[in-house]
Amino acid sequence: MSEPTQISLATRCVHAGERTDPHGSPHTPIYTTTTFAFPSTAALLDVVEGRVAGSLYTRYGLNPSILALEEKLAALEGAEAALAFSSGMAAESALFFAHGREGIVCIGDAYGGTLELIGQQLPLLGIPTHLLLGHELEQLDGLLAEGARLVFLETPTNPALEVFDIAALAEQVHSRGALLVVDNTFASPVNQQPLALGADLVVHSATKYLGGHSDLTAGALMGARALLDPVWNWRKNLGQMPAPETAALLARSLRSLVVRVKQQSASALVVARAMEAHPRVARVLFPGLASCPGHALAARQMSGFGGMLTIEIAGDGAAATAVADRLELFALAPSLGGVESLVTQPCTTTHHGLRPEERARRGISDAMLRLSIGLEDAEDLIADLHQALG
Ligand code: PLP
Repeated sequence: MSEPTQISLATRCVHAGERTDPHGSPHTPIYTTTTFAFPSTAALLDVVEGRVAGSLYTRYGLNPSILALEEKLAALEGAEAALAFSSGMAAESALFFAHGREGIVCIGDAYGGTLELIGQQLPLLGIPTHLLLGHELEQLDGLLAEGARLVFLETPTNPALEVFDIAALAEQVHSRGALLVVDNTFASPVNQQPLALGADLVVHSATKYLGGHSDLTAGALMGARALLDPVWNWRKNLGQMPAPETAALLARSLRSLVVRVKQQSASALVVARAMEAHPRVARVLFPGLASCPGHALAARQMSGFGGMLTIEIAGDGAAATAVADRLELFALAPSLGGVESLVTQPCTTTHHGLRPEERARRGISDAMLRLSIGLEDAEDLIADLHQALG
């Protein structure tokens, strides 16, 4: 598969990066080994000194299971290359160490761990960081002029599903010589291709849709090889490699990514419409609804609206907690993107670490419930929501 972006995403998901073996395995076997032997010192030096691509030591990522996964990950986002990580946060931290040391701007809402890393931990190392909300974007140019070199955002955001214009931001950020990085976890490559829209790098918590079964923790970074090369050394020495078994499990999951995410996105739209009509639901945040402020932009830059939606219960946080506790099909759990539907109250999980005033400033109310739609029948999910809403 020499030019993977020329063929459809579903085909790339199945075939990209796969290595066959002498026994005829249709998929890359799992190489659990930590090190690889060479016929001679000359052959070893060819790999060590980069003249020949090959396997060497698993923590370096030079293991066939990991290299095969990375080819597939790159193909999914139409990227030149990809790096696999032990988690989404590992991918983010290696990225920030490699490219964010002069200053990072995080736009909009993001996963709570990302906000903690950028807002509280990186400044301890002397890295200047700034958190801008969607309505504060007029400050971006000034921060870039002051020297920030990396702009990071999620779109749609977590948990309010706000949508940002990737192409417009890429133009603005590039005019100041900085990099635009999009966390594409929520949309997945099935619904959004940030690199094609002008972003420089894409990061994923592969724990979510890419893994898709709530049974693995991993991360990914995709983009131009020249941008990934500096990250490679950070990953190597921070020891952020996924185990070969996890790499193989993730590659297995990616083969069904398109059918999973398309179905999850279709079901989410049906559930969102049903919730919009329910008297005990004050608001439904889902980019596929015409009532959502980001709908027109999402329709332009996304090919599907994703499987995540947030409902705001008419009432207070306790009322939302009661609904979450009454749900039977939806498991009460953080995380998202698996085949089983999940419900989480952001103020108790993903955004629990933020002070209540900060949550309020970000428009994250205690009455919000974030739903990750799985592969159950949409009508069964709606029936469960109806019984829980009472
Ligand atoms: N990005 C998003 C959008 C997330 O939701 C998460 C985790 O919930 C992360 C990144 C971090 O990923 P991980 O838990 O794989 O480290």
